[in-house]
Amino acid sequence: MIEVTPGIYQLQLPLPNISLGYVNAYLVQGDNGYLLVDTGWDMREVFDSLKEQLDEKGISLEDITQIVVTHVHPDHYGLAGKIKQLSHATLAMHHIEKGFIKSRYAAMTGLLQQTEQGLHVNGVPPEELTELKLASVEMAKFVVPTLPDITFSGGETISCGAFSFQVLWTPGHSPGHICLYEASHKVLISGDHILPTITPIIGLHPQSNHNPLGDYLNSLKRVKELKVELVLPGHEYSFTGLKKRAQQIIQHHEQRNLEILRVLNTTSKTTYQIATEMTWMSHINGVGWQELTPLDKRLAVLETLAHLEEMRAAGRASKFTRDDIIHYRVEKWEK
Ligand SMILES: [Zn+2]
Ligand SMILES: [Zn+2]
Repeated sequence: MIEVTPGIYQLQLPLPNISLGYVNAYLVQGDNGYLLVDTGWDMREVFDSLKEQLDEKGISLEDITQIVVTHVHPDHYGLAGKIKQLSHATLAMHHIEKGFIKSRYAAMTGLLQQTEQGLHVNGVPPEELTELKLASVEMAKFVVPTLPDITFSGGETISCGAFSFQVLWTPGHSPGHICLYEASHKVLISGDHILPTITPIIGLHPQSNHNPLGDYLNSLKRVKELKVELVLPGHEYSFTGLKKRAQQIIQHHEQRNLEILRVLNTTSKTTYQIATEMTWMSHINGVGWQELTPLDKRLAVLETLAHLEEMRAAGRASKFTRDDIIHYRVEKWEK
């Protein structure tokens, strides 16, 4: 546990077997207890790591009085239920995220059907459909589905000792994603909205909005204008230079748009066809379609779709349906 700024501690919680390595939780010191932001997976190893890091500072689970999750992806929300149960802390999140808990982690059949249908109409061939549909089902075992006591819509204030965090609704990576902004200390707890080197995944799926990349870029443009000296992200490490990093991410997405337009050129293609012709995993210098795992393939299709819909909203691409399958083509190259 490192004190990243006086009164705020960063806890790195392991994410065994995935390349991200760990998720960062943040512990904020209050007058009568601590605020915990994000929690890691529900897994013995992760829970033990959390306990150990708290023990080192003489903090017990009962000292946690508030838990806030930036979004309900398993790496940020998985352990929230268990920590809440043991600490009696309140659990808070955006109301949109609350709406996903049951369908994602408890009664999944309906969502799986919608996922399959979405992949099918976007050109995923029958022989790959089941594998891609089921690719994330395993993750549910890392979550104790627990409903929040408090929900946000953005604009609320969370008080904790010397800190007063403003809840910023930053849809994109997840429709109810939030960041916490502390204006007087110029600190931003950014969840998966902005990371120092990795570009957060923005995919279009049954539970996203119609144009999640458009939402994301708008959220990013709003956040980059804040007076921030220290960004505390959900993965990797804390960093300075919010504005510069936001601009890099905006540029990265425009590069991806241009790559898609080049793949399409004068033809029309399905999202799946386009995704198979792109390079992926740029953080390890890029790999081709065949090297991706089923989950990465699904994310690749959903990210490509998010780009296509962002360009469609901007008049750069259009779509049409042939034999029930959606195809895209270029309308104009410029932004
Ligand atoms: Zn996430
Ligand atoms: Zn994450």
